[in-house]
Amino acid sequence: MPSERPEKLLHEAFRMILRAYQLMGYDIEGDDNFRETVHRSARAAMELVRPTADIQGEIDRLMAKTFPARYDEMVISKHNICFGVCPHHLLPVIYRVSVAYLPMDNVVGISKLSRLIRLMARRPVLQEDYTHELAELLYARLNSRGSAAYIEGLHLCMAARGVEAHEARLVTSAVRGIFRDQPATRQEFLDLVTAPPLQLL
Ligand SMILES: [Zn+2]
Repeated sequence: MPSERPEKLLHEAFRMILRAYQLMGYDIEGDDNFRETVHRSARAAMELVRPTADIQGEIDRLMAKTFPARYDEMVISKHNICFGVCPHHLLPVIYRVSVAYLPMDNVVGISKLSRLIRLMARRPVLQEDYTHELAELLYARLNSRGSAAYIEGLHLCMAARGVEAHEARLVTSAVRGIFRDQPATRQEFLDLVTAPPLQLL
């Protein structure tokens, strides 16, 4: 197995994409704006999608630092804006993510919760899976009494091409434990996190 590095492959890929644009009539050699594009695009792609090992390692580090719970009220982290890509088109998705959990013994710091949410978005992952994985993490891994995740996604594959459904937001939610068993708890969460839709531009 040759030792291939993702950075190198991304450079090659973007070089070929620019070659295709050249065939489509764009002056990628004469126009100065394209001079560093291969390098910039490869770097941007590495930021948009993080290696699985890095993500897992950081999740482990973040989840290892919990604090004893002093309250058993609902903890909510609301309207986190974060970015990822869809696995079908590899085009960016802008998410607005809200999560909640009811602690049992431990809580995780609120800023860590936001980092966790942003980190887990940086994958070519289905929004549905991302939603369930967040809920599962805050339930099983944190050993809470229940958890919930609610995500609105603006998918550029829908908004910028194809049907050009500019206004379409994909909405997904997932619940575990007490949020699943008690409709009132689930409703309290949904009431708290559903606000006017994400306005971009
Ligand atoms: Zn897509």
